[in-house]
Amino acid sequence: MNSRRDFLQKIAASALVMPLMPLAGWAARVNHYDGPVLKVAIMGLGSYGNRVAEAMKACVKAKLTGVISGTPAKIKDWQGRFGIPEKNCYNYDNFDQVKNNPDIDAVYITTPNALHHDQVIRIAAAGKQVICEKPMAVNAKEAQEMIDACKKAGVQLLVGYRMHFEPKTLEIIRMRNNGEFGKIMFFQGQCGFRIGDPTQWRLNKQLACGGAMMDIGIYAVNGARYMVGEEPVWVTAQETKTDPVKFKPGVDETIQFQLGFPGGAVASCLSTYNMNNLDRFFLNGEKGFAELWPSTGYGPIKGRTNKGELTQPHVTHQTVQMEEMAGILLEGKQPTVAVNGEEALKDLKIIDGIYQAAKTGQKVNLHL
Ligand code: NAD
Repeated sequence: MNSRRDFLQKIAASALVMPLMPLAGWAARVNHYDGPVLKVAIMGLGSYGNRVAEAMKACVKAKLTGVISGTPAKIKDWQGRFGIPEKNCYNYDNFDQVKNNPDIDAVYITTPNALHHDQVIRIAAAGKQVICEKPMAVNAKEAQEMIDACKKAGVQLLVGYRMHFEPKTLEIIRMRNNGEFGKIMFFQGQCGFRIGDPTQWRLNKQLACGGAMMDIGIYAVNGARYMVGEEPVWVTAQETKTDPVKFKPGVDETIQFQLGFPGGAVASCLSTYNMNNLDRFFLNGEKGFAELWPSTGYGPIKGRTNKGELTQPHVTHQTVQMEEMAGILLEGKQPTVAVNGEEALKDLKIIDGIYQAAKTGQKVNLHL
């Protein structure tokens, strides 16, 4: 794991042990909450699954009640750490049986990208709500199939877009909607890190179904949309590869891409697995600007606008995300920026366009 990720993980880990609000206030809230609780099973007990599970300890409206894993030793470990009973533990062969388990309302899928499609469809068929990590699918066709399967089964499909609940990000969106930056003209999104271990699934075409774009570039794709506040209508892209041994055919190392928006704004973005210190968003309008740097790491997110520093408090992203997703699934809450399958489909249509534009050198029109 690269040093940036290590650093961000240390900060996030220390944030997990700090209360999200003064202890007395938090305890009072927990004690007084008697509303519905979303009972969640996590599928794929890897690095991110662990982070979500730890963050959920601080949730009031969401609780980890089950696990799905192919590794019995991990299941034992999680049972001990989170108090999960044997009857709520499944493997990849028998997890369709969650259908009959009233202790599980939703399954949160945190497995490698290529597996999301079939796993989402199986969970939907079992009649449970689905939360899936990004990238939800590996292309727009798969994303549409997943949306259709969830609709058919009458379950909701949410995607782990944790930045859609991040306070400084939401403040910029509020200011933009309020006209405080004037007409939006330009967005810059730089997302990347130097990836380590060449044997990891993120560099395996079959499991990752791409490279940096699927993993980290997607933050610039998604960020361009929620920062500009419009859907792009065209994309151009250029790929460079300095290390064809580490980044095999079909695994992108570095892609620059540009998006055009209907109001005239343009975005210029960079996605890479081969440079550190890239986690920055910049939005420019006729009357002002906003910068987030870091913009999408685990935090603390930092930012400023032409009016000064952004001072919203740091939160553990996954705690707030799960709290808000419980509100969406149990109470029909509407988030400021959508986190559903349709939102992910738009990102995947753009990513399909980026890969096509990089391959052909042509401008690709987008129909989101
Ligand atoms: P990871 O390798 O740490 O964990 C993946 C887990 O899936 C492992 O426990 C592994 O055993 C399991 N798995 C099941 N079937 C597998 C198979 N056939 N091959 C390999 N592993 C298999 O990866 P991670 O970093 O936890 O990423 C998992 C997902 O979460 C990815 O889709 C990634 O994009 C996403 N993610 C999101 C964020 C975020 O901030 N939203 C951060 C990290 C990862």
